[in-house]
Amino acid sequence: EVQTENKTLVQKDKEHLWHSMSRFNANANPTIATKGEGSWFTDMEGNKYLDGVSGLWCLNLGHGRKEIAQAAYDQMVNVSYFPLTQSHVPAIELSAKLSSLLKGSYTTYFSNSGSEANEVAFKIARQYHAQNGNPGKYKFISRYRAYHGSTIGALSATAQANRKGKYGPSASGFLHVPPPYSYRSTFESDLAAAEYIKEVITWEGADTVAGIILEPFISGGGVLIPSKEYLTRVAEICKENDVLLIVDEVVSGFGRTGEMFGFMHSAGVQPDIVTMAKGLTSGYMPLGATAVQSYIYEKFKGEGDKQHFRHVSTFGGHPAACAVALKNIEIIENEGIVERVSQLGRSVLNELQDLETLDCVGEVRGVGFLFGIELVADKQTKAPAAEEFSGKVIAKCKEKGLIIGRNGDTIPGYQNVLILAPPLSSTDEDLRFLVDTVKTVIEECE
Ligand code: PLP
Repeated sequence: EVQTENKTLVQKDKEHLWHSMSRFNANANPTIATKGEGSWFTDMEGNKYLDGVSGLWCLNLGHGRKEIAQAAYDQMVNVSYFPLTQSHVPAIELSAKLSSLLKGSYTTYFSNSGSEANEVAFKIARQYHAQNGNPGKYKFISRYRAYHGSTIGALSATAQANRKGKYGPSASGFLHVPPPYSYRSTFESDLAAAEYIKEVITWEGADTVAGIILEPFISGGGVLIPSKEYLTRVAEICKENDVLLIVDEVVSGFGRTGEMFGFMHSAGVQPDIVTMAKGLTSGYMPLGATAVQSYIYEKFKGEGDKQHFRHVSTFGGHPAACAVALKNIEIIENEGIVERVSQLGRSVLNELQDLETLDCVGEVRGVGFLFGIELVADKQTKAPAAEEFSGKVIAKCKEKGLIIGRNGDTIPGYQNVLILAPPLSSTDEDLRFLVDTVKTVIEECE
């Protein structure tokens, strides 16, 4: 009877549920999770898997934290919903907490996702410049390979041709520059990549550029780890040109990289705007956040003169989501998660770097619990490994009970970076299993 029930579920899935990103494949059955425990989940057939990518890089504290569920429950049976045209306690507490975690004076606008958090950042940045006497500043610079979300503005900042494929034309005013990427660099050094941004601002006209959006470490675009000085220099260039530095911490925030926020690896960087989602709630509830420095918020004050931000989100900053975020942050702090990720991340990376002796591995890089294994067809020419090869490694890992990912659908021929981003609360045994399985599988596939 259970089997019939399962079959019906699969049929209903195939007929009615439109999956993200997955190519339609009539023969493949979806993995339907029915139970979760820590870093592991069990599917409908009873197979157990370690989730080596934390869902979509968000399940940072793993499944089943009762305190987080309790926080949502307590909030839901009290003030179940309240709009942020007014106010509620969890949103107030969370906005103040984020300001202190960001080590500055920030005011936060809440939404529901990373894409929305970035859309909000773009709108705030343009309106800020307009109300600061610079209405001509409207352009945004982002880096090739970056992913900043799926909605039209965020997709316009995204610089991966395949993602944009059939959805153009993009919103106007979005420019792209190459990222620092020492393994395949266009530049002599990471600092040269920063100076290139200066060049772009100069020739576009600094009076037309509103902001730069970047992840401290490009994640979905292939786990690129620049030198620490890169972001420091970009921040200086932004200041010199009155260009807002918008740091997308959707993946890198809340401990993923071994610091509370990714930008904190670089000296002297205090972003003008920080966008957050995913790990903000460890994926237990949808929530996006756009934190802006107080001097930006100041420009939106002024009664009756239509200086306010004309944007509303019905569910943004939902009370239960904010309560969940507060509990999530409390756990991260109480359990010393960030320090643990920093320490263990280094040893996991060391072990994974053994793979660089193989012909099919060009480079292994990482920071905190974010690792990329770049597969190549030819080590001398660095020709990327075929999509089928990375696909085979992923499939074999799954056979052995480990879910791993690879860089997004960027451009043809470049789906060759395997990605590992396990829950930050993974146990020593979980990490052992992850490292051993990945190493064994890649060695076997070579
Ligand atoms: N920014 C980055 C760096 C991301 O990786 C993502 C999602 O993967 C987003 C933004 C968009 O977040 P969401 O899927 O919550 O809209």
